[in-house]
Amino acid sequence: MTTLSDRSIIITGAGSGIGRAIAQEAAAAGAHIIVSDLNQDTANETVELIQRASGHATAVAGDVSSPEVVDQLVAAATSAGPLLGLVNNAGVMDDFAGAAETTDATWELCMRVNVTAPFMLTRAVLPHLLEAGKGSIVNMGSEAGLRGGAAGAAYTSSKHALVGLTKSTAFQYARQNVRVNAIMPGGVETNIIETDYSKLNQAGLAVMGPLHQTATRMAQPSEISALAVFLLSDAASNVSGAIIPCDAGWSAG
Ligand code: ADP
Repeated sequence: MTTLSDRSIIITGAGSGIGRAIAQEAAAAGAHIIVSDLNQDTANETVELIQRASGHATAVAGDVSSPEVVDQLVAAATSAGPLLGLVNNAGVMDDFAGAAETTDATWELCMRVNVTAPFMLTRAVLPHLLEAGKGSIVNMGSEAGLRGGAAGAAYTSSKHALVGLTKSTAFQYARQNVRVNAIMPGGVETNIIETDYSKLNQAGLAVMGPLHQTATRMAQPSEISALAVFLLSDAASNVSGAIIPCDAGWSAG
């Protein structure tokens, strides 16, 4: 059985969807979770869900692209236990616009939340992982990080950049036993996709993998969190720099 009982783990965007599912599952495996979200109420709810299941968690609300919040997250994690894990999951979607129609504001927001914040958090946690001699960073990518047909220019560019951060960090710190991987989900039933599902359909974009098209459903967050918890655990000791589709076969087409 997977155990994470010796560590604290920062999970961003853990107030809903995929992040909340990872937080609950990692807490069930014994980790102390630092629940990060922009939304104080949903962060608190995730902590309550974890505590009701006898797990350990602390909420830290705030914008994860702010240096002060990054410092708060690391401080909370190191006081809760050895900081050995980070899940860069907080993300914002674009409006499916191509480059010609993408505004500066949309571009800047996608880059700041989806790329700059993961970079800042990676930089902030690395000294702790290096000192511990092990650690795992999981970056939440997207099928839009693998190909050009799943979102607009800003989101697609940001998720491709996250792949670069994943590979660079994995390669640079492999000898120090720090592992860095990315999960590339297809359509998952969360707020981020519910809002824009009709737009996706209008654009004729595939949000469901072939397996799910036959089942007429999107993936559940728990189908992503199982992989994330594996990657966080020592059971994944030989997996680093991997960009792993978790999309029921969509990207295989
Ligand atoms: P998904 O689970 O598919 O990523 P959600 O919209 O359910 O989609 O979850 C994304 C989470 O990321 C939300 O809870 C949202 O509040 C959070 N989030 C978005 N931007 C930020 C930010 N700048 N800082 C912290 N959390 C953020």
